[in-house]
Amino acid sequence: MPRKPMFDPPRSATGDEAEAPPHETAATARGRAKANATAARLGAAVARLTPDEIVQLFRRFEAANPSPTSELVYVNPFTLLVAVVLSAQSTDAGVNKATKPLFAIADTPAKMVALGEERLREAIKTIGLYRNKARNVVALSERLIADHGGEVPRERAALEALPGVGRKTANVVLNTAFGEPTMAVDTHMFRVANRLGLAPGKTPLAVEDELERVVPDAFKRHAHHWLILHGRYVCKALKPDCGHCPVADLCRFPGKTAG
Ligand code: SF4
Repeated sequence: MPRKPMFDPPRSATGDEAEAPPHETAATARGRAKANATAARLGAAVARLTPDEIVQLFRRFEAANPSPTSELVYVNPFTLLVAVVLSAQSTDAGVNKATKPLFAIADTPAKMVALGEERLREAIKTIGLYRNKARNVVALSERLIADHGGEVPRERAALEALPGVGRKTANVVLNTAFGEPTMAVDTHMFRVANRLGLAPGKTPLAVEDELERVVPDAFKRHAHHWLILHGRYVCKALKPDCGHCPVADLCRFPGKTAG
């Protein structure tokens, strides 16, 4: 059976549009897409990290941040699922601002259905694509009540069957809510995995498959968050901060400026 696309719509070959902040200019968005495409092109050409180097890499991430987690605010698996659905094409900070008052009154599928699509739209109108997202959140809440007793299922297929939920969202929920060692490859993971020579791939799905293969079991649970946070704050798309990168000496990226 073909796998559901990595990114919830809209999706892209290099994962860029899915995480592009709504305030981002077209020029910056193009720059991010170009940086990710370059990372994928160069990633295919550079020597791969060796198994020993991969262990060193994750030991350093682990030492700096032993228990990384999502920057989305949530109180239970349902609110995490909703926050992730809302986060496509939006920043975590923007989503958190809207969900703080929302989750105070609607932190279960039943309460979300009772709130209704119109009031939900109003609550999340500062978030990109809010009309579609409100429709999906109410629909997925109804489906959770009808098919899963109001609980968020722990199975990928059941998650991906929910309205507005794609492979990446399912991976985030499985990893963050249930502790599964899944790799939710977003724009940051895609770029970092390629630049480092850790798990090169032309598509998010190829990078995910490669990460599954090369990341040692001991690091799989947190690899997703370590790589996202590294890409978000250090190995940024347009100006990677190589001078402050804890893994610069291991990194294979020809454009790095330190190490
Ligand atoms: S050295 Fe630079 S390019 Fe390589 S991972 Fe660190 S920040 Fe990214």
